[in-house]
Amino acid sequence: MKFESLGLNPKIIRSLSEHSYTAPSSIQQQAIPLISQRNDLIACAQTGTGKTAAYALPLIHAISARNEKWRKVSVVILAPTRELSIQIVENIEKYSKYLPIKVGLIHGGTCTKTQLKHIYKGVQILVATPGRLLGLLRKRAIDVRAVDTLVLDEADKMLEMGFVNSVAKIISFLPSRSRQSLMFSATFSESVKKLAHDLLHQPKLIQISKKKVTLDEIKQSVYHVSRMDKRALLNRLFEKESWK
Ligand code: AMP
Repeated sequence: MKFESLGLNPKIIRSLSEHSYTAPSSIQQQAIPLISQRNDLIACAQTGTGKTAAYALPLIHAISARNEKWRKVSVVILAPTRELSIQIVENIEKYSKYLPIKVGLIHGGTCTKTQLKHIYKGVQILVATPGRLLGLLRKRAIDVRAVDTLVLDEADKMLEMGFVNSVAKIISFLPSRSRQSLMFSATFSESVKKLAHDLLHQPKLIQISKKKVTLDEIKQSVYHVSRMDKRALLNRLFEKESWK
């Protein structure tokens, strides 16, 4: 299958080919049509499967198709960590390079003022960690009245980190009428199922890998080392294994 057959804007496909994305991954093949038809979705897929593009591409396409004059936040993507939220923003910027689409980022541990300044210039997509976003919503610092799509990325991790109440409160600030909600999770525990039940409306289900949390391609090993020696060990390993 090719990206062209998924009906995406040719400008998106142009940026994908520049980044050597030759064909959609399995989750992309399954999720893109479902998301484009505005289904709610729960997808069980870990990092490395191409899950970010699986939701980002159809959402970017939908925004580009609306061709609106003013940039208003219409998509909110929640991620459990600052690192993941930065990665999502970088991906979205990559995919929408040839489109007038702007993405905002809200996460803790850094200056809110700078983040808001960028958002106030007009963004259609907002990527956020739950705690900081909730604080700003409570202060009415961000206008979410035009939001029609919510994505929960790494939902299982969000639950593990105790964000369930923050997520519920964030949702209470979003318009509920005809909202599309998408949930991505590496694992499908009872608590994830409950969140899906509460949040999603007649969701479609995609299961890319069963109960496995890591990919075969990733080799994992454990080194017991004191906190002080961590950096030296990492340097040694980089040298010894010729890692890049
Ligand atoms: P993710 O699972 O979203 O973290 O993506 C894992 C990695 O795969 C990221 O570095 C993406 O840029 C890359 N990627 C995603 N989709 C494709 C694709 N269709 N072809 C090649 N690389 C991809």
